Amino acid sequence: MAEREHVRVAVIGSGFGGLGAAVRLRREGVTDFVVLERAGSVGGTWRDNSYPGCACDVPSHLYSFSFAPHPDWPRAFSGQEHIRAYLEHVTDVFGLRPHLRFDAEVLRMTWNGERLCWDIETAGGDLSADLVVSATGPLSDPKIPDIPGLDTFPGKVFHSARWDHDYDLSGKRVAMVGTGASAIQIVPAVQPRVERLTLFQRTPPWVMPRMDRAISGAERALHRALPFTTRLRRGLLWGIRELQVQAFTKRPNELGMIESLAKRNMARAVKDPALRAKLTPDYRIGCKRILLSSEYYPALARPNVDVVASGLGEIRGSTLVAADGSEAEADAIVFGTGFRVTDMPIAERVVGAEGRTLAEVWKGGMEALRGASAAGFPNWVSIIGPNTGLGNSSMILMIESQLNYLADYLRQLDVLGGRVALDARPGAVSDWNRRVQERMKRTVWNTGGCTSWYLDANGRNTTIWPGTTAEFRRATRRVDLGEYRVVRPAAGGGGARETAAEVSA
Ligand SMILES: Cc1cc2nc3c(=O)[nH]c(=O)nc-3n(C[C@H](O)[C@H](O)[C@H](O)COP(=O)(O)OP(=O)(O)OC[C@H]3O[C@@H](n4cnc5c(N)ncnc54)[C@H](O)[C@@H]3O)c2cc1C
Repeated sequence: MAEREHVRVAVIGSGFGGLGAAVRLRREGVTDFVVLERAGSVGGTWRDNSYPGCACDVPSHLYSFSFAPHPDWPRAFSGQEHIRAYLEHVTDVFGLRPHLRFDAEVLRMTWNGERLCWDIETAGGDLSADLVVSATGPLSDPKIPDIPGLDTFPGKVFHSARWDHDYDLSGKRVAMVGTGASAIQIVPAVQPRVERLTLFQRTPPWVMPRMDRAISGAERALHRALPFTTRLRRGLLWGIRELQVQAFTKRPNELGMIESLAKRNMARAVKDPALRAKLTPDYRIGCKRILLSSEYYPALARPNVDVVASGLGEIRGSTLVAADGSEAEADAIVFGTGFRVTDMPIAERVVGAEGRTLAEVWKGGMEALRGASAAGFPNWVSIIGPNTGLGNSSMILMIESQLNYLADYLRQLDVLGGRVALDARPGAVSDWNRRVQERMKRTVWNTGGCTSWYLDANGRNTTIWPGTTAEFRRATRRVDLGEYRVVRPAAGGGGARETAAEVSA
């Protein structure tokens, strides 16, 4: 039988997280690694979300890698195709192609306590790795609610993250389910060409105007000629967002001022008081992600749009019945209903040292030391793990902090030498989590009076980082070996996991 391929590091996913990890590995001198990607190209979020109007909510000069500045961003807030092209460019410039394995969905990975490595089954073949970087993305697996009668619907059904470009919505009666970040971009993009648009809204979002504009040729030329101006621009965008964090985390009442601006944004476009009443949230702004759009409200005020202020309750053939009993006919249903965030599918596929899956361990809620390490899952490092999400800034900042942590993790393994693994101590994980949850108590995400995808089934916020990105950067600069068990194979070689010796307290 052919021997299973072995690599030092297996990275799962090729979005910003996976590609960033690949660049960092090469910079740390690690070349023996693969990037396992279930799709046929890189890009993650920005490959999968190609719906009309898809764009980033964070300015491009901040929503990009600090180590790969791009002076030529065409707009303040880039669209999906530009971000996807940027990631393809990063892949080429940093020589990542030889490491990429497409159509290699990770089906299962099991910790091998004898060999101190991960045995990985993928759709493209099996391999093993000393260390796994899990960068499968928090918003990567679409969630479609279990609506009674969905199977009786005779028309077209798809999720915003799996847009069917072969299906033309022109002249159709379209039902949009959900009012999150994707839905508010889709609505104005499709409203002019559909016959009728029925928006099923469970909870109205707070929507602020989007200050988008083309970046002029002169600005771009300046950024090309004087690279420090790109860094300066990024620094300013970052600083403004850092200053906002206290209001989200400690003084939610200060956000009232922003609520007034959001209400004015709505009042400018929506003249009908009954529609305005439907669209006015009854929770503190910021509790759910603040959405940015200057076109959403004007689109909702158009005569071919109906807002049903109630969730979709049932489907009877082509009739969609809202929870309030109202009915609408549709030819197509678009679900903008988000992703499996707090029950990530990859967790069901990772089997740790105790023989339990990560999903089983996380039954009471996701938790990981510094967002990276789960106890009982040695040499498994997560990118955008639990409590690393942001409500107001660029996730690339958090990804880069976790890449610093990954780099130090690898250095620590090198210093320890030989066949060795690091396993987070349960006490260190729970201590970290306790501190995170303590800080969470005062935040707008927990006190703002809403339910959101930030909270898990138990009502616990296991997704958001309750601090500044600078604080997270400091917390992830170094691996503290005191927070880990150092695991080596038992003397004499081989031996079961139980005999692995703990050599450092
Ligand atoms: C529509 C949309 C808009 C967004 N806008 C913003 C924004 O404005 N600002 C912001 O900061 N963030 C935004 N985000 C969040 C965004 O997801 C992150 O910023 C970032 O792109 C996540 O990168 P990632 O690499 O961690 O995950 P992803 O980009 O999701 O990449 C994960 C990759 O892992 C692959 N994968 C998953 N499971 C497996 C498996 N089992 N085997 C192999 N491969 C697998 C996927 O195919 C995918 O390619 C947005 C997300 C969405 C969906």
